[in-house]
Amino acid sequence: MLRTHNCGELRKAHLGQEVIICGWVQRIRDKGGRAWIDLRDRFGMTQLIFEEGSTSEQLMAIVRTLGREYVIRARGVVIERLSKNSKLSTGDIEVQVLHLEILNEAVLPPFLIDDETDGGDELRMKYRYLDLRRRPIRKNLELRHQVSRKTRFYLDSHEFIEVETPYLIKSTPEGARDFIVPSRMNPKQFYALPQSPQTFKQLLMVSGLDRYYQIVKCFRDEDLRSDRQPEFTQIDCEMSFVEQEDVLEMFEGLVNFLFKEVKRIELTKFPRLTYADAMKYYGSDKPDLRFDMRFVELNEVIGDTDFHLFNAAELIVGINAKDCGTYSRKKLDELIDFVQKTQVAATSLIYVKCKLDGSFKSSVDKFFDQDALSNWANLFKAKPGDLILILAGKKDLTRKALNDLRLEMGDRLGLRPSSKFCPAWIIDFPLLEWDEETKRYHAMHHPFTSPKNQYMDQVDKAPESIKASAYDLVINGVEIGGGSIRIHKRALQSKMFDALGFTKAEAEEQFGFLLGAFDFGAPPHGGIAFGLDRLCSLLGGAESIRDFIAFPKNSSGRDVMIDSPSLLDEEQLTALGINSEKK
Ligand code: ASP
Repeated sequence: MLRTHNCGELRKAHLGQEVIICGWVQRIRDKGGRAWIDLRDRFGMTQLIFEEGSTSEQLMAIVRTLGREYVIRARGVVIERLSKNSKLSTGDIEVQVLHLEILNEAVLPPFLIDDETDGGDELRMKYRYLDLRRRPIRKNLELRHQVSRKTRFYLDSHEFIEVETPYLIKSTPEGARDFIVPSRMNPKQFYALPQSPQTFKQLLMVSGLDRYYQIVKCFRDEDLRSDRQPEFTQIDCEMSFVEQEDVLEMFEGLVNFLFKEVKRIELTKFPRLTYADAMKYYGSDKPDLRFDMRFVELNEVIGDTDFHLFNAAELIVGINAKDCGTYSRKKLDELIDFVQKTQVAATSLIYVKCKLDGSFKSSVDKFFDQDALSNWANLFKAKPGDLILILAGKKDLTRKALNDLRLEMGDRLGLRPSSKFCPAWIIDFPLLEWDEETKRYHAMHHPFTSPKNQYMDQVDKAPESIKASAYDLVINGVEIGGGSIRIHKRALQSKMFDALGFTKAEAEEQFGFLLGAFDFGAPPHGGIAFGLDRLCSLLGGAESIRDFIAFPKNSSGRDVMIDSPSLLDEEQLTALGINSEKK
């Protein structure tokens, strides 16, 4: 070893010892007769001291040639510091250097390698290896490592085995877009990278492996957002001989374990919310339950009215923003603007201020008297000082817009602290959803999801009303995981493909291997997959998943460090049989 200790290790107990430490120069302070270097490595920071008198002139001269981020190796004696630094684990000591070796020089980094940096996003990504030297980013990777490690521990202790499934698979039109890979040995043919190992993990159940997991890369060629990457990691799991309840219990256990081990937080039993209720009360299938502010529907109490917006509306629905009744005109205008910018409900925001004297002031005073407004306030359980915000219009769009407004109010009122965690299972999803554009049904989860028992014989009759044995785990408004009990019989799976508009030939061509496998004794099975990147960013209290991925892509799907994707030369294309045919 080039060193005896790392930079985070030395304490008073080492006083008087001769040690060798290596690392990067974080900072140099040169006060003439005395110089200090903060030496940094993954484990911490240790102060080196050089003093004229005890340090040779030759050594002093070397110190003066050093710059930031030089890699050095220092031998010296651990001494007690005169002025201690309680913020640093090594803050009681320093190393009086006897010998110093420059292991490598460094040019000036393009941004500050410090907790707070002056580097913008793009620059940090271009020099990601320098960004990763910064403590906050390193901490994120350490957290990620802990999450993976504890996940493996939990699943191992419940008899799951980790099995790798292939990355070069077959493209299917279901779900998101595939990334495709040309096959040189099979000209004009392509593999696809897996969007998830779904069919393989089901086949492993047919194989009798019983409990499978894999911490696995998945690939989806989708438009990117701050919480999406073209390649991301799932904790992918599957179990045999289980019902929905067994899966929920096993994986509530996993999430509880992770919070306890990684965050020292004991979560309470996860509430369950049906999809229908989540939509009705929060306008979203991933409600943020850190705060209540439930939707209240007003259609029935309002009935017929002269107010056109309400009369024409499929849904009139609102929230009560507590203690916002004193909002100024300016603040209300901001909210009105906000709603218009969400662009989902092309309707205006109606407000009712519950004044401290018990009276009401609303934007619809012309149409509704004090009695009517008081009636509404009762439904919202609004107290004097509260502010009722109402939207009206088409059901789905209005709910979506009110969900945005609810989250905005949650932010404004400080009701969404990153230190609070409110998980919930969302259950009873519809099996299928109608897509107006393609005029056909889509599987809401995926085509392998089983209907709930009571709907088993209805797949070909009343697809609209069928509920699925599908579930999502949502924490703080973020979808952390999702899964389902699967179909395990050929006949039902075929009916499902029919309902999704596959011809028999298409179903056979794309999923014949799975249907065939079901003929050989497939056990009842089900599972779930968690988004590891999202789970880590949630545990780390950050919004973006990028900071929890060592080498992420930017919002155009590019890796700006290695400059990928890139063009191939004609020769490579020819070898792959995909060169542009000249006309
Ligand atoms: N494969 C599914 C997904 O990626 C998860 C599951 O059903 O287990 O969403």
